Amino acid sequence: MKENNKCCNNLADNTSDYEKDVLKREAYIDMIVSQLTTEEKIAMIHGDGFFKTKGVERLGIPPLKMSDGPMGVRNEFYNDKWVALGYSDDYVSYAPSNSALSATWNPELAYKCGKNLGEEARGRGKDVILAPGINIKRDPLCGRNFEYMSEDPYLVETLAVPFINGVQESDVAACVKHFAVNCQETNRLYVDTIVDERTLHELYLKAFKAAVCKAHSYSIMNAYNKINGSHCSENKELLDDILRDKWEYDGVVISDWGSVHTTRESANTSMDIEMSVTPDFDNYYYAAPLLKAVKNGEVSIEEINKKVKNILRLMYRLKMIGPDAVNRKQGIYSNMEHWQSELDTAREAIVLLKNEDNVLPITTERLKMSVNSYVKNPDKELDKTLKDNAAPVKKKIAVIGHNAEHNHAGGGGSAEIKAIYEISPLLGLKKALGGNVDIQYAVGYYVPGDKDVNEVNWQEASLERQVMGQESDSKKNKKLREEIEKNRHKLLKEACELAKEADEVIYIGGLNHDYDVEGRDRQDMVLPYGQDELINALLDINPDTVIVMVAGSPVQMPWLQRAKALVWCYYSGMETGDALADILLGKVNPSGKLPETFPVKYEDTVTYKNGQFGREDAITCEEGIFVGYRYYEKEHIKTAYAFGYGMSYTQFEISNVTVKLCDDDKKGALAEVGCELKNTGRLYGADVIQCYIQDMECSVERPLKELAAYKKVFLEPGESEKVQLYLYKDAFEFYDIKRKDFVIEPGQFKVYVGDSLDNCEAAGIITI
Ligand code: BGC
Repeated sequence: MKENNKCCNNLADNTSDYEKDVLKREAYIDMIVSQLTTEEKIAMIHGDGFFKTKGVERLGIPPLKMSDGPMGVRNEFYNDKWVALGYSDDYVSYAPSNSALSATWNPELAYKCGKNLGEEARGRGKDVILAPGINIKRDPLCGRNFEYMSEDPYLVETLAVPFINGVQESDVAACVKHFAVNCQETNRLYVDTIVDERTLHELYLKAFKAAVCKAHSYSIMNAYNKINGSHCSENKELLDDILRDKWEYDGVVISDWGSVHTTRESANTSMDIEMSVTPDFDNYYYAAPLLKAVKNGEVSIEEINKKVKNILRLMYRLKMIGPDAVNRKQGIYSNMEHWQSELDTAREAIVLLKNEDNVLPITTERLKMSVNSYVKNPDKELDKTLKDNAAPVKKKIAVIGHNAEHNHAGGGGSAEIKAIYEISPLLGLKKALGGNVDIQYAVGYYVPGDKDVNEVNWQEASLERQVMGQESDSKKNKKLREEIEKNRHKLLKEACELAKEADEVIYIGGLNHDYDVEGRDRQDMVLPYGQDELINALLDINPDTVIVMVAGSPVQMPWLQRAKALVWCYYSGMETGDALADILLGKVNPSGKLPETFPVKYEDTVTYKNGQFGREDAITCEEGIFVGYRYYEKEHIKTAYAFGYGMSYTQFEISNVTVKLCDDDKKGALAEVGCELKNTGRLYGADVIQCYIQDMECSVERPLKELAAYKKVFLEPGESEKVQLYLYKDAFEFYDIKRKDFVIEPGQFKVYVGDSLDNCEAAGIITI
């Protein structure tokens, strides 16, 4: 039974079973609340450890245990020290990042990822898992882009909803974050994001609304930043008017760690639990100061009761309390079933961006040993014998680049994971090819060394260093640049020598969590560590060099015209190496599609042009809804790769496209788009049929195209399938500021169908 967030009040006589259950639950909760003292209530609504609140033992109310995050369940820390406990039992499955997941364009995998995460969280004894991250990617430089899904709210919504459903099946609450408009890390605790009402609803809140109203996420985390002058932890419009009143949310609002700045303002807003990073739990705004505020009447006990009720409701839903508590799911973690499913996702997440002259896949046929090396002898007979018996020569693959051998699980900020294992790309390739291929590795570029042992845990310092220590960072950066420069020539030379001797060259570089990281934005889109020079040198030596980028956000690729093969691999979890090897060697056909646009250069982005990114005091979303492809299309800016783009080793053909209004029995869909997809190539593979909509005439400016529906279809060679896509009301709507709601303006809508934004054709017009 799907549960509605809405509490039921005025129940009619013919009360349904569902309504009876709700009544029973609310009565149970009221009964508990009536027995709690004010002190006990206050103790329940703030952190009593970095990842837990206090329970009330005498009434059988347990503490609420939480953990990060989107890529798996984080390791255990001391309750009050940012020091890892170093246990051997908190190794977990390491899932593909949200950016990787969204590159699959596969809601079934999103559900499975959520389900794995929920099971792992429950298995580790957690109640709330601080995931998924669903903020809209507004600028390619945002440090947390790797944790987020897409620039398009529809794609985010269609992946976030099954993800949350998957998590919550295990009696664990998803905590969808960061509510809202968390689109930069620079001065993230204080930056004020000025955003107009339409943009807020149409772009930045859309997936959150779905997370609340469709997936019924039991909890939600407010963002650090301010919106229109008020911190998200005390923003009445956001938390009271929109979340509680409009969306009728009855789940729990949890503060991001250290995002609460006041007692009275936050407590008088619908913000339920204060969490932070400092160990002075009794002095949190929601601790002693709140008790005082209640006593002197600044905050009413009714406000406190509302918060406590939300928490108890979440506990009841999770079967932490209540009549069904004995049936709570037990969960499971670090099990082989999860590893297999992370592999499935990682494989589908890899995006093939370029493949000229069939450079990829590197087939086993191409890698067969040759028998052409033997000592030539003037004696013909002996010559033949020598030739017949000559030891075969192994083909040589040069794997070059730091990311071939680098593991990413332990970085990125709160998304860090203590992975039970992580297959690096080099390991994946060696596992796949065995002993008959000679794989040689060169690191290629220098990545400055290990962390300073005296450095404090970044999270411990995350409130003090508002701009994440930019001043001291710049000194450090200078030192690091010098270090990189010192090593550059030696490593480049070594890599080139290796490439010269090799039959195949695979370059595996990109970014890492020194760049894709919480608390800091990138300064530019340039590949770090002098990689451009190295890639150019390798392409000089071997124009067929396969370029693999492992990264969480787009980079400038000045060598792109020269490269024949380019593979994009977002951080893809524990099975990255196996998945990548499968794709490079042709065991699996790539089927990932970009969930975001890759601009040619940073100067092409709207945020570069309007200068409204990375400022410390305030940023204004001047571009409105024209973010990502909505902007590039409007301004006719050529991009490196379009939204939704991704190639396959096979070919597909779309035909017989039909567009029509629906008869009203199709579950509320307004229109129906049909087409036939045929795999015309020689390999099993998948394509994603994408449907975009254009409102042809409207009283407000609307994008030229907006993603309205999509479907991933797997086909055998020669096979074809009739694909049916349904367009619901929200595909046609925009947010009308006069009515303060989404509306459809009657008129004509152009429908485009294809398999990427830049490969779709007008298929028909619908009149609504
Ligand atoms: C992050 C959150 C995370 C929390 C707890 C904060 O720094 O912004 O995403 O869930 O820490 O680790």
